[in-house]
Amino acid sequence: MGENMRTLDKLVQDAILTGHSVCAPSKSAQWMNCPFSIAMEEWARVTHGAVDEENDAAKDGTAKHNYLNLLFQFDKGNISILPEIPEEHDEAVMVAYRAVMNIFSDAYLLESEMHLKIGDAIQKWYSDAPSLMIMNLCHGTSDVVALDFETRTLWIIDAKFGRIGVDPNSPQLKAYACGAYFWALQYMPDIDHIRLGIIQPPISHELQSCEVTLEELQQFAGELLVALGKVIELYSTQVSNGENCTPGVTQCTWCKANKWCRSYEEFLVGSPTDMEPPTAEALAEIGMAPPPELPENSTLAQAYSYWKDIQKWGEVIETTFKARLQEFDAPIDNWELKYLRKNAAKWVTGVEASDIASGLGVDIELITKLDTPSAVAKRLKGIDISEFVIEGEPVYGIARCKP
Ligand code: SF4
Repeated sequence: MGENMRTLDKLVQDAILTGHSVCAPSKSAQWMNCPFSIAMEEWARVTHGAVDEENDAAKDGTAKHNYLNLLFQFDKGNISILPEIPEEHDEAVMVAYRAVMNIFSDAYLLESEMHLKIGDAIQKWYSDAPSLMIMNLCHGTSDVVALDFETRTLWIIDAKFGRIGVDPNSPQLKAYACGAYFWALQYMPDIDHIRLGIIQPPISHELQSCEVTLEELQQFAGELLVALGKVIELYSTQVSNGENCTPGVTQCTWCKANKWCRSYEEFLVGSPTDMEPPTAEALAEIGMAPPPELPENSTLAQAYSYWKDIQKWGEVIETTFKARLQEFDAPIDNWELKYLRKNAAKWVTGVEASDIASGLGVDIELITKLDTPSAVAKRLKGIDISEFVIEGEPVYGIARCKP
């Protein structure tokens, strides 16, 4: 592997010259969990041409992000004419735009597509960090960084247009928040709240958000520093294929070296095969041997001891399968990622049952006894209760295509 990899110095030099973020926040879940994946990806790129080619889903997401950014730029007066948003992007982009704008009070400052130097933030908190490398290895662009002056809140918001749910409390948003914090101080030195938000129109029309404290951010910057240190150390070691890797569902699914990584291969096949498979017919359909008989009691305990591995294997299969379905945005071998149902509707938060009852002109008992909005709606046929209800979010899942 060694001769196919650039040295760390060269990598950092290239990073400085090209502005490429080697340890990008958007991939932080990967390289923080498996620091050597940076080197593995580089090796896969050089030896197998594994490059960052945008697939159709990624191109679609990029286009939507661009239109969303144009809306924000238009609001700020940075552009005077807003290009028409093509129909295939319009709804999702507008949902994202409205959900973001809904959260601000009258006085706010919003920056979109803001480039954030995470490495600089780490250095401010941990002054003994090796400056040149750390500063140039980790930076990235956040969709929205905003200050709400009334609530004294710093917001870091990312729009996602895929169908796999993303938690706002993610390493990516926390990394952006580290960079945004020092930018925000110049406008709002007394920040009260730091909130991370995700707007994901295919899943929800509401912004999902969570709060992080400054102490948590600072601690997270320390974790970033440790992981970056490992990247630097492991990159310099340049050990052979797969060694030093730390496989796991989260990191391996999106790693561009996963096809060639020995550790990941072992992780996938490391689970035992002496389990009860679905059926002999189902396995025969995909060319696999029929299942073994269930073991006798004497060996059943041994098989059961593998149960955690079997579950882990199942998780890997499910996550990878979902990711591939989303990646190509098309059925794979008669399967698709599909809208299945809606979660149950909820009463709007912060409104007392007595207020809902008086708003609807009904007895409070009806609200408290029947409890759920759908039960109340059924009883109050014809009365519009939508003012007090948050619609359930759509749930996506893997489903067979109809023939
Ligand atoms: S496939 Fe997984 S274990 Fe291998 S380098 Fe990538 S993230 Fe690490």
